[in-house]
Amino acid sequence: MIIGIDLGTTNSLVAAWKDGRSVLIPNALGEMLTPSCVSLDEDGTVLVGRAARERLQTHPDRTAANFKRYMGSDKTMVLAGRAFRPEELSSLVLRALKADAEAFLGEPVEEAVVTVPAYFSDAQRKATRAAGALAGLRVDRLLNEPTAAALAYGLHQQDSETRFLVFDLGGGTFDVSILEMFDGVMEVRASAGDNFLGGEDFLQALVNLFFERLKLSDSLRRDSHFMQRLLAAAERAKRALSEQTRAVLSVEHKGKPLSLEVDEALFESACATLLKRLRLPVERALRDANLRTVMLDNIVLAGGATRMPMVRRLATTMFGRFPAIDFNPDEVVAMGAAIQAGLKAKD
Ligand code: AMP
Repeated sequence: MIIGIDLGTTNSLVAAWKDGRSVLIPNALGEMLTPSCVSLDEDGTVLVGRAARERLQTHPDRTAANFKRYMGSDKTMVLAGRAFRPEELSSLVLRALKADAEAFLGEPVEEAVVTVPAYFSDAQRKATRAAGALAGLRVDRLLNEPTAAALAYGLHQQDSETRFLVFDLGGGTFDVSILEMFDGVMEVRASAGDNFLGGEDFLQALVNLFFERLKLSDSLRRDSHFMQRLLAAAERAKRALSEQTRAVLSVEHKGKPLSLEVDEALFESACATLLKRLRLPVERALRDANLRTVMLDNIVLAGGATRMPMVRRLATTMFGRFPAIDFNPDEVVAMGAAIQAGLKAKD
């Protein structure tokens, strides 16, 4: 059995091609998203996923996150006094996903299609393959993330010339890719992005708004317990604002509740500069591909942060049409990876 893996900066997912369709595979907690976090327990046990992410605050010296950013570099991260290379940390995530897939499918899994950003260099791709090998997975095929998202939307089934733009806003990175299908060959025509722009920045904007509106002293930012609770409350409010028009951000400080009601318009105005920054890579990719928006056949949203209505509105106005949203944006890359795994198994 070949599985498809979206090895992400924030979260990773695994899916398989089963009975003619892509099926997402839940982890032991029953969740589709496994945080790309690794932590070493005091007795040497390796924790991966949510359990590891929860230790980011409590055991920062034993926990690692965001290692995808360093794939292919010589940087190591020290956990419990031991240095780990980014591909070693990634392999621990892959190993956990492999085990989840085997438990779900009831058969051994030896091979995977793993997705990587379109801009990944040879060194970064090599490190990703090495991570697979360390996890006991053969990775013959690395698939570009935007290509995977486009596969989920059936780009490979189009017989005429077709162009998709994939707008991928994750936790910490923004990637725009223009894909073209011509004569049965899929090509990345242009890619652009911002490596330091993602859902986390929208969260930070909400935190800053809270400080500003409640006139809180900046010294409170050094109170890590307070900040931890504020960040959790802000993340909840941010997600609530994807479903409803207002949310209350409330945190206790010295026994007193501090709260701020945020509506859509206020959240959007706090994110004005971030929204402006989202435009630049889109314009660059279109320019590089020598295309105008009317020449695009489909706009595909990927990445959890594209659930934010303000981001969807921006995409709609930029492209003059509604983007495709048949799939959950945080799952679409894994769904496409499983399609590629299915195509490969057929060969
Ligand atoms: P990803 O890298 O695709 O897992 O994206 C993770 C980012 O998406 C994080 O910044 C999350 O806060 C954000 N996110 C996930 N779900 C939602 C939601 N319902 N509303 C707003 N942001 C979300």
